[in-house]
Amino acid sequence: MKVLIARLNHETNTFSPVPTPLAAFGPDGPTFGEQAYKDNKGMRTAMSAFIDLAEQAGATLVTPVSASANPSGPVDAEAYATLTQCIVDAAPGCDAILLDLHGAMVAQNSADGEGDLLLRLRAAAPGVPIGVALDLHANVTPAMVGNADVIVGFKTYPHIDMYVTGEHAGRLLFDLLAGRSKPTMRWHQLPLMAHTLRSASFTGAMQRAIEAAREAETSESLAVSIFAGFSLSDIEAPCMSVVVVDAKSHERAQATADRIAKQMWDEREAFVYRSEPLAESVARAKAIAQGATRPVLLLDHGDNCMSGGSCDTMDVLQEALAQGLDGIGVGPLCDPGAVGELIAAGEGATVTVALGNKVSLEGIGLSKKPVMLTGTVRTVGNGEYVITGPTYTGQRSSMGRTVLFDIGAARIVVTERTQEPWDIGVFECAGLDPRKERFLLLKSRMYCRPVFEPISAALVECDSPGVTSSDYSLFPFSKVRRPVFPLDTV
Ligand SMILES: [Zn+2]
Repeated sequence: MKVLIARLNHETNTFSPVPTPLAAFGPDGPTFGEQAYKDNKGMRTAMSAFIDLAEQAGATLVTPVSASANPSGPVDAEAYATLTQCIVDAAPGCDAILLDLHGAMVAQNSADGEGDLLLRLRAAAPGVPIGVALDLHANVTPAMVGNADVIVGFKTYPHIDMYVTGEHAGRLLFDLLAGRSKPTMRWHQLPLMAHTLRSASFTGAMQRAIEAAREAETSESLAVSIFAGFSLSDIEAPCMSVVVVDAKSHERAQATADRIAKQMWDEREAFVYRSEPLAESVARAKAIAQGATRPVLLLDHGDNCMSGGSCDTMDVLQEALAQGLDGIGVGPLCDPGAVGELIAAGEGATVTVALGNKVSLEGIGLSKKPVMLTGTVRTVGNGEYVITGPTYTGQRSSMGRTVLFDIGAARIVVTERTQEPWDIGVFECAGLDPRKERFLLLKSRMYCRPVFEPISAALVECDSPGVTSSDYSLFPFSKVRRPVFPLDTV
């Protein structure tokens, strides 16, 4: 038995100005063949689980590619063609296909990255069973459901069940191959754009939907997946959906999907994030900090690089300075040009630089100017650290050349590369102890929480105008099928 196993992950923010070339798909770009196998064997990805299951079944493995990029703008046409063609070329002659996909990929040459890939695979290898593991934030499409036999999504956000999900999807596909079951798949998509800050699996309506899915899995279904979708995508349906795999009948699969979808629709308001004005958030943080012995977190989720943000907007810092906050640790802020100037000035020098707001946000009709700031270059470093936090523990990270720039009220970690503040190391490697600041301004929405919440007095979500803003009125949606909630009152 020959099994094709591949990994291709990208969550596309179609409004993001951050490009997605082939090189973005891995620390050193994507890996192919034997190296794609080695990169996943023994890890905790869905592809790792596929490998383990296929080896247990004594199968011959074909691993054309492993490619995973951080969220950013649409995938370059050439990169999409390269990454998908090698999977399609490997399909003929295989007995089964197992794919570790995200489900919200848009390329310059494909509005439905995963759906188009599955369509081509079906044509290249007709009748060969296809099993797919997807991220909880997948924008599921008819082409995806119509060209796969089994789809299973993550049930956790923050995502900690990639391997378990791969195991689940893989097991169902091997059962199908062995004739132990005959799965049928049905789905229900809602005209509902959920917000990622309302898709955490441990609370609220999302938790209740996932509980209903688990309940159905214990009583009747082979797999039930709740997809929050990824709404920062101008496609036909960046929407929530339920996908059910059932061993018995189409009717029962559909009934389960419809029932859970109705529960979600009834709770639709709970999937919407209504942001308060930025000035109010900052004022609230200022009030909380009175008498607090630990820093207050200012979470700038309008510019989060793990959702496609440029990591260089200045709105929250400007508002904080305007309201007289001080003792603000900021970072990482990506501005390679300013890093060059500050390094040229040298440690200890006092200089005035134009900082941030340099990546064009014209795509969403925003134009910002860099902010002139005068301060002292405290440290210059290589921006390297090892993650000690719970997400990506042990992984070596590099922010490129990094400068700690002290403007008095704030100390700003300025970097050459964008970086999610998923570890204390982003500050410590620049010589700043975040525990000693009164405020920490982090361009993050979820990943910073397990690390920074324990050392903080409180967390204040700040919605700034940027490509990952929570204010959907900023985004020129033109392809989304209307009406859709909450853009329209459905
Ligand atoms: Zn996700």
